[in-house]
Amino acid sequence: MRKIKTISLLLICVLLVAAFAVGCGAKEERLAVATGGTSGVYYPLGGAFANIISEKVGGVTANAESTGASVENVNLLNKGDVDFAMVQNDISYYAFNGVEMFDEQEPMKNLRGLATLYPETIQIVAAGNANIASVEDLRGKRVAVGAPGSGTEANARQILAAYGLTYDDIQADYLSFGEAADNLKDGHVQAAFVTAGTPTAAITDLATTHNVNLVPIPSNIAQKLIADYPYYAEVTIPAGTYRNQDEDINAVAVMAMLTVRAGLSDDVVYNITKALFENLDSLAAAHARGGDISIDTALNGMSLEIHPGAQRYYNEVK
Ligand code: GLU
Repeated sequence: MRKIKTISLLLICVLLVAAFAVGCGAKEERLAVATGGTSGVYYPLGGAFANIISEKVGGVTANAESTGASVENVNLLNKGDVDFAMVQNDISYYAFNGVEMFDEQEPMKNLRGLATLYPETIQIVAAGNANIASVEDLRGKRVAVGAPGSGTEANARQILAAYGLTYDDIQADYLSFGEAADNLKDGHVQAAFVTAGTPTAAITDLATTHNVNLVPIPSNIAQKLIADYPYYAEVTIPAGTYRNQDEDINAVAVMAMLTVRAGLSDDVVYNITKALFENLDSLAAAHARGGDISIDTALNGMSLEIHPGAQRYYNEVK
């Protein structure tokens, strides 16, 4: 009798432990990655990053979400509504320090850096028939300046300002890259600002069927912008990036970075950073600029404190 009792007690214990283990195993932490519009570069690369998390890191799954991009993303991340975000390094700096467009908000102290990724070029695309050869020619024109909550829109304002122009001198439309391309096609806007890795799908599609030209930022203006805003760098958009683009175009660029919320555990961030750098081929497959990502350059242009989990990985491998 006593034996039976002991055995049944033991059995109950074993069952309880097993049920607990299954319960824990099934309970995966769900993480959210804020990206950008669906015709940008954040969206496919953020999607590839979310897949790496879901497939390669135990106990967690991740989803990529479409958003208005950088400015919206730092707000989402700082509030803890998402766990990771793709952000321009200039915008994350302004947000963390409560300057520029964030000067009336509390500094966003929950933002941490995971890695810088690839250059994002400020591309100014103009309709071929609109006679826009320089930024000055945007005066009086209807211009897509980026989605509400985008970093693009901040770049548009800064670049116009370098020419002494403001939104009072143009007709500004807050449009995503995809909307901007559609509006350029049907003539509703004459030009669009696009801050994104090249080639950007929205421009590639547009240039396939319509005549467009890229408006250059000459070196003297690029240098003036860099003096005022050190996260800009002078770059060229190589000839042939888009159909009928026969010449290199002078431009400025910032860096895309992966940011993470400070409160995410060091172990989870360590595992995810490791998985990211061990699976770079899937990012390169998602977009050409994914091929720029490397451990060697992951801290170049870093504008935030590094998350301790990511730092642990860098200490191991760098
Ligand atoms: N850098 C852009 C922005 O924050 C988004 C770029 C993209 O979607 O690839 O406005």
